[in-house]
Amino acid sequence: MKKVPILMYHHVSSVSEATPLKSLFVSPRVFDLQMKVLSFFGYQGKSMRELLPYLDGKKEGKVFGITFDDGYKDVLENALPILNKYGFSSTCYVVSDEVGNYNRWDEGYKDRHNLMDIPDLNTWLNSGQDIGVHTATHVSLLNLQESRYTEEILNPKTKLENFFPGRQFQDFCYPYGDFTLNVVNFIEQSRAYKTATTTVRGVAKAGDNALLLSRVFMKNNMGFVKTFLKVILGIK
Ligand SMILES: [Zn+2]
Repeated sequence: MKKVPILMYHHVSSVSEATPLKSLFVSPRVFDLQMKVLSFFGYQGKSMRELLPYLDGKKEGKVFGITFDDGYKDVLENALPILNKYGFSSTCYVVSDEVGNYNRWDEGYKDRHNLMDIPDLNTWLNSGQDIGVHTATHVSLLNLQESRYTEEILNPKTKLENFFPGRQFQDFCYPYGDFTLNVVNFIEQSRAYKTATTTVRGVAKAGDNALLLSRVFMKNNMGFVKTFLKVILGIK
């Protein structure tokens, strides 16, 4: 089936060697280069909402998804101008209880990074970018009691939609890539989300289960050749 690569990013910012979560950073220069490579080969970067018809097999074309996990402010500051330059859209997965705060869930690393606040997210949305849901607190869904599924999976969608009247958010991302069959069944039965992305490495294809989508982990050492091989050819 037709390949539909979905890129996974966290931070778009230059980073010092000392940062514990260094692998989650792509510098603005490298991000620009990666977008340039894909644009050069005729590919259009799309949000999960715009990518869905390609994943469903209803549309075909040279497209790829762009996703940013967690909602860092550096994505607004550094990635947005580059997305605008290439005319690409993307989905940023937001942790609804931490809007305007920092990555509290990484507390053990003592490495705080600011998350977008409501005005930031408004700017993001009004610039043609999209938002997805990344639970209320960035909880691991692996061992979460079923009685808490609603508060972590469904309530954050309502909360985010209430922040932005008239908007509807239909894309979900499993924190840490953690999910169980129970979680996936719950999401499917709730009909709250049309897509859900994992951290399973690989290129998604048309016809894949839309609630179990694999992604390409984009890194700072991926220049022209690696971007071509990993995203376009789908070589792991
Ligand atoms: Zn995350």
